[in-house]
Amino acid sequence: MTTAQTSALARAPASPLPAASPGPALSVDPQRLWASLMELACIGATDKGGVCRLALTDLDRQGRELFVRWVREAGCTVRVDGIGNLFARREGQDPSLPAVATGSHIDTQPTGGKFDGNYGVLAGLEVLRTLNDAGIRTVAPLEVCVWTNEEGSRFVPVMMGSGVYAGAFTLASVLEAVDRDGIRVGQALQAIGFAGAAPAAVAEGAPRFGAYFEAHIEQGPVLEDADIPLGVVTGALGQRWYDVVVTGQEAHAGPTPMTLRRDALQGATGLMQAVRGIALDEQPDGRGTVGYVQVHPNSRNVIPGRVTFTVDFRHGDDAGLSRMDRRLRGACAALEGAGGLAVAIEQTVYYPPARFAAPLVAAVREGARRMGLAHLDIVSGAGHDAVYVARTAPAAMIFVPCKDGISHNEIEDAKPEHLAAGANVLLHAMLDQAGIA
Ligand SMILES: [Zn+2]
Repeated sequence: MTTAQTSALARAPASPLPAASPGPALSVDPQRLWASLMELACIGATDKGGVCRLALTDLDRQGRELFVRWVREAGCTVRVDGIGNLFARREGQDPSLPAVATGSHIDTQPTGGKFDGNYGVLAGLEVLRTLNDAGIRTVAPLEVCVWTNEEGSRFVPVMMGSGVYAGAFTLASVLEAVDRDGIRVGQALQAIGFAGAAPAAVAEGAPRFGAYFEAHIEQGPVLEDADIPLGVVTGALGQRWYDVVVTGQEAHAGPTPMTLRRDALQGATGLMQAVRGIALDEQPDGRGTVGYVQVHPNSRNVIPGRVTFTVDFRHGDDAGLSRMDRRLRGACAALEGAGGLAVAIEQTVYYPPARFAAPLVAAVREGARRMGLAHLDIVSGAGHDAVYVARTAPAAMIFVPCKDGISHNEIEDAKPEHLAAGANVLLHAMLDQAGIA
């Protein structure tokens, strides 16, 4: 371990670093991967050990410039597209083949951690460095991507860069998106020097990948709970989001008898219980969450006249998601039919479930087997850049555990040995798809 690595590790949570695993399989350098993660985490570091590096800020520029320096040192060329996505390319024996790509994002939430997104980017960098050290040339080119504004914290929509790439939104529309200060995405890209010239969308000529892998911390508790170091991600849950408004009649809490009330909150809480029941009937993949509630007028001696709340439904299977939709609408209609209350429901978001490409999922599983790692098939509950990229090319993901399943939090943490294990699986999966020259 070099002095520089020691000082980087000194800032990290105390976890013993394992030696590189012996055996015939090619493997990454766990210390180098960890040191790079810790160095990137210094840009926007928070007092509580997290990172605040919002998309297209000056800190984002610094993070991007560090990545660009590292990949150039690793012998890559760098392409920047019109939404600021970065593609570091390691040329293959046959440059005409579509690249085998990996990546993620380096923007964070305001109270974000060191690993969400950053891990997927730096695991890709570590793959390139490992191949350089071993003198391995691939048949197909390799690329490591940094997708712009995955988090959606400063600018909406989330997963902006990969969404433009895949055609979920147009470049022109997202360049006009503004933050709370009225700054447009287009302006912010210019200001940090990452408004690139390369086409941003596949439909406009951006290169399609031969395969895309994304390594990511799980952001949930399943792997840690099962004490398994690696998740083979088979797909991502579909999502339907709603705004629901229940309207009754505000009235005085004293003079109005129980039988003569039009209490919007009592009706709404019944619907909230229905959301939970609907999700529980769709196990193991069904999820139902009411995360936002607004009560009007929110006064202790007034019967609530109006309640607005959100519903977030997720399911691994589109038919299941449709069943959840029908039952929620049925519950709303039944409440309204009972008299006294009006119920309005509007769907605000629909993402169909994504199923990752079977040959790539198999390559991830085979990578885990080759490294002797216990692994588990898992479905991603969260959205990721890979879900959009999967609309344009075969894609798959690799999950590693994070401490207590906590993410989008400054205390987000992961073990160096798990991060190295995921990078090793990424290395072998990419080699499997790219071929050794
Ligand atoms: Zn992420």
